[in-house]
Amino acid sequence: MKPTVKNMNVKGKRIIVRVDFNVPMKEDGSIRDNNRIVAALPTIKELVNKGARVILMSHLGKIDFKKAPEDIEKAKKKNNMAPVAKELSFLLGQDVVFVNVTRGEELENAVNNLKDGQVLLMQNTRYEKGESKNDPELASYWAKLGDGFVMDAFGSAHRAHCSTVGIPSILEKEGKQVACGYLVEKEVNALYRCVEIKDDERPYVAILGGSKVSDKIQVIETLLKKTDKIVIGGAMAYTFLKALGHNIGNSLCEDDQLDYAKKCYESGKIVLPIDSVCANSFDNPTSIVTSEAEDIPTGYMGLDIGPKSIELFSKVIASAKTIFWNGPVGVFENEKFASGTKAICQAIVDNKNAFSVVGGGDSAAAAKQFGYSKEFSHVSTGGGASLEMIQFDGHIPGIDVIPDVK
Ligand code: AMP
Repeated sequence: MKPTVKNMNVKGKRIIVRVDFNVPMKEDGSIRDNNRIVAALPTIKELVNKGARVILMSHLGKIDFKKAPEDIEKAKKKNNMAPVAKELSFLLGQDVVFVNVTRGEELENAVNNLKDGQVLLMQNTRYEKGESKNDPELASYWAKLGDGFVMDAFGSAHRAHCSTVGIPSILEKEGKQVACGYLVEKEVNALYRCVEIKDDERPYVAILGGSKVSDKIQVIETLLKKTDKIVIGGAMAYTFLKALGHNIGNSLCEDDQLDYAKKCYESGKIVLPIDSVCANSFDNPTSIVTSEAEDIPTGYMGLDIGPKSIELFSKVIASAKTIFWNGPVGVFENEKFASGTKAICQAIVDNKNAFSVVGGGDSAAAAKQFGYSKEFSHVSTGGGASLEMIQFDGHIPGIDVIPDVK
């Protein structure tokens, strides 16, 4: 079990909190969706109420240091944290000290001037080239700013960066408190249930979709060991169907994964679509037909699972006690090919006996778009992080760095 912010003794201490304030921004520099800031509030409020001096760090967007200096400056301007500080201050109902730099006297003075219960937000951690390389000098400099560390950025916990791994490993070695925030605690508890399956939580059914098999190879291998059934939809399914000798028309396929797909299928755990909604074009579908069986008509591509597959997949889902879902089973962004993914959401929420986890990214977006988000047991905030949690048996760097409570 990981220690959490709840049990920390933080009064008067400078606590560095790694939050995920990587919020979508509008062209005019305002915030498009403040969900991620809202999600961090319970941890921040807990620390404020306990009289900690709170130092918040987060990345925002990407800055490519291989580009020309003027492009780097442009990226920095675009990914400036100032609007986030303003929004946070509004949501918290108290002032937030915003420090426009990531190192130097201005930052150190602002930290030293913090009073108990005050909150500071540092500029974007990615303004520093060393952040994503977990540069030891940068990690040690930032670690000196704090007396303790809280990890509350689940979406970044699969990355070994200075702000996710460098700082806590230094502070932990110095005997300082490091712990998970409330958001990370919730994520870890939910995903551990999909990693360490107890017998009375079976059958365990995973649903995988999306476009690329190669992206999900490792996770399929781990899931084959853990699950009772893996339902595969989306473009991924056509690589499997081709490997089994079916005609897949113009459907997306990764030919270099055919042998691997065949090997996985031999496990006997994989359930594939038995019909598909097909179109003559991805961008401009003027002819849409439903295939009778696995084979896709020549000149067409499979863009969603068909009605017979919906029935088959829903039956498997209805039998489950634990469900992990990652990846839409069709091109859900287009209404014409959204029925399959909608039906998967419906089947999962209809199964009231199951513990259900949606693994972030596109599946979380689909669940939100169709209005199901609140009905799952857990919707992860980290697409990459949740997949890697499963893939690596519950071990990702930003969580492993926080030692279990003895
Ligand atoms: P991924 O990032 O691998 O999870 O893929 C998500 C994307 O897969 C979504 O944008 C879907 O539109 C797309 N997708 C799902 N099913 C298909 C399909 N049958 N053909 C092409 N793209 C698909």
